[in-house]
Amino acid sequence: MNDLRIPADLLPADGRFGCGPSKVRPEQVAHLEANMALLGTSHRQAPVKGLVRSVREQLAQLFSLPEGHEVLLGNGGSTAFWDAAAFSLIQHRSHHLVFGEFGGKFAKAAAAPWLEVPSVASAEPGSRPVLEPVEGVDVVAYPHNETSTGVFHPVIGAQADALAVVDATSAAGGLDVDVSAADLYYFAPQKNFASDGGVWFAIASPAAIERIERVAASGRYIPEFLSLQQAVANSRLDQTLNTPALTTLLLLQEQLRWMLEQGGLPAMAARTAESAGSLYAWAEARPEATPFVADPAHRSNVVVTIDFDESVDATALAKALRANGVVDTEPYRKLGRNQLRVATFAAIEPADVVQLTRCLDFLLDVR
Ligand SMILES: *Cc1c(COP(=O)(O)O)cnc(C)c1O
Repeated sequence: MNDLRIPADLLPADGRFGCGPSKVRPEQVAHLEANMALLGTSHRQAPVKGLVRSVREQLAQLFSLPEGHEVLLGNGGSTAFWDAAAFSLIQHRSHHLVFGEFGGKFAKAAAAPWLEVPSVASAEPGSRPVLEPVEGVDVVAYPHNETSTGVFHPVIGAQADALAVVDATSAAGGLDVDVSAADLYYFAPQKNFASDGGVWFAIASPAAIERIERVAASGRYIPEFLSLQQAVANSRLDQTLNTPALTTLLLLQEQLRWMLEQGGLPAMAARTAESAGSLYAWAEARPEATPFVADPAHRSNVVVTIDFDESVDATALAKALRANGVVDTEPYRKLGRNQLRVATFAAIEPADVVQLTRCLDFLLDVR
């Protein structure tokens, strides 16, 4: 299958379907070039602080920032945010929904020696556990989209006595949401925002800010870099504790401009629903394929996972696609399934997703 040439009229215009980082729109790169003069200048001076302010304002607009909520940012991406939450947010004990790799990583970070052993409700990959109240926890955490499996979880308020902390790294900007249901809706910009990585953002509620202040005042040892109180203070000044990646911020700025121009979150959600819908419909119709996520209500519109029966070698399929310039359709490495995983992030053209299904038909038919 590897040396099969897919006819040009079946190929997508852009063959990047990776779940992180995302395809970057050429207009973002043009924006970077147009703002070249900003690169190599101080992040403590007005031009770069203006860039940070503009991105914070665009995010506030995109998420219809509720009264009293704030847009925070810090360096290190979502993985650093987990450690920051262990130091700065969880007071005694957290509860985690784990239904894949990323939810599991936060639970692991929260198993810190100064905290009580986290409570975990888990489900087999491809499904999701039910969010039920747990006594004695002060943070409830789950992903809005579990990127390793393509399972979606709605953003719903947690129990009254705990903060709802939602990992929206692969969902933010691609799925509609009422952020007022969460206390911290956090993400990194290399998925639907089609930027580079290295920074985290969080939409924080007044209760979350209050918790951050309370933990900081408790006397617990908190490294500066992982201090959310530092992040709150610096974000309010449109800066970060240490040097941010300016290219990441510029690529993000253009993606946000485009998202807002297209109609904001509802328009992006419609776009990803269309893309994902094409793939799920294809997998339902194609005898050798099935959507990995059995319950249609749990299926993600930003990450689509498709299982293949034993007549198909999915690894060879991904390799053949790659040889034709259609890249990063391999499944999450630790899942170990005969599967393809395709991002249907905001930047990806729905028409290109249709072309991808035509490529798959071609490769399966000519075997
Ligand atoms: C990609 C991803 C992460 C990791 O983000 P980094 O910025 O690379 O740390 C975390 N959670 C989810 C749900 C993701 O999709």
